Amino acid sequence: MKKVLSYILVFLAAFAVCFHGTTIEAAAARNVVVVIDPGHGGTGDRNLGAQYNGLSEKELTLRLANALKAELEKYDGITVYTTRTTDTVVSLEDRAEFAKSVGADFVFSIHFNASSGHEFYGSEVWTSTFGDYYVAGCNFGNIVEAQWSELGLYQKGVKTRIGSSGSDYYGIIRQCAARSMPCVILEHAYLDHVYDTSLIKSADFVNKLAVADATAIAKYYKLRSSKTGADYSSFSYASVKKPGKVLYQDETGPDTCDIKVLGYDTPSGNVLVEMTTSDKQSPVIYFSYSYDGGKTFCPLQMWDRTKATQSFNVKVPGGTTNPVIVCRTYNNYEKGAQSNPVQVTAGF
Ligand SMILES: [Zn+2]
Repeated sequence: MKKVLSYILVFLAAFAVCFHGTTIEAAAARNVVVVIDPGHGGTGDRNLGAQYNGLSEKELTLRLANALKAELEKYDGITVYTTRTTDTVVSLEDRAEFAKSVGADFVFSIHFNASSGHEFYGSEVWTSTFGDYYVAGCNFGNIVEAQWSELGLYQKGVKTRIGSSGSDYYGIIRQCAARSMPCVILEHAYLDHVYDTSLIKSADFVNKLAVADATAIAKYYKLRSSKTGADYSSFSYASVKKPGKVLYQDETGPDTCDIKVLGYDTPSGNVLVEMTTSDKQSPVIYFSYSYDGGKTFCPLQMWDRTKATQSFNVKVPGGTTNPVIVCRTYNNYEKGAQSNPVQVTAGF
């Protein structure tokens, strides 16, 4: 028995040496090629990207892309290209074609966001809905969102969107998939919401985003840096499953959005509201409330997506008679649902 055991141990040791040897060799031989794509550029409305509060998307994307390239080049075994280095128009097709020509393993398209009603804030990642491209985009998206979260950005999630032709809606993702390359659109933050602009305008924030993106890429590819000593070679993550079907965008709001008033403290004007909301398709991520029956709503608050029921205070200004509370929730596709109204009276 002892002899058998020692044979097994010898065999295992030999196997470990072999296995170790081959992995080191494989890691050394493998060079990752990534293409950073600074969104927009040049003149003309669509080429400027979002322009708000003195912030210009096409300028921010280029600044961030340059900083990200420098940050990534601190790692071993990676070659980094960018699709533009100046303020010029580059078509989505040309960006993808360039990435293909340099043998890109992954294309990271850098963007900043805005919404037509200027109410949303946070970061989001768009990925292809198809097979391995979805898996790559989702896995990377989850890693980068964890990095962004550390900077205080609110995370909206990794999403897919299909166009009317049945292929990926976003051109750069579609063009890259057509050339067998995974691509994600990284919408770092909103230029038209104070929650995000207060961060973007803070000192060195673009460089912080560059470090966050670079760290996520280094983790995804298990890179190490002999320059800085950073070592993500043993980083691991749980991979998402390959989707068995096309994952369409969520076109509908939360399925339920119900409120109860638990109390009304007239001297302070505080109304304690309990809300229950759910959405089978997408996480509920924002909520807002109204005390004037839905005429005006407060700015969007963060909804704890791990709980279906939460309570919060609605502050009713002095002099308001018989306030009517109405609440709204939104999922991460920005589709909303409105609650039942509840009239609260003094002495409730
Ligand atoms: Zn953009």
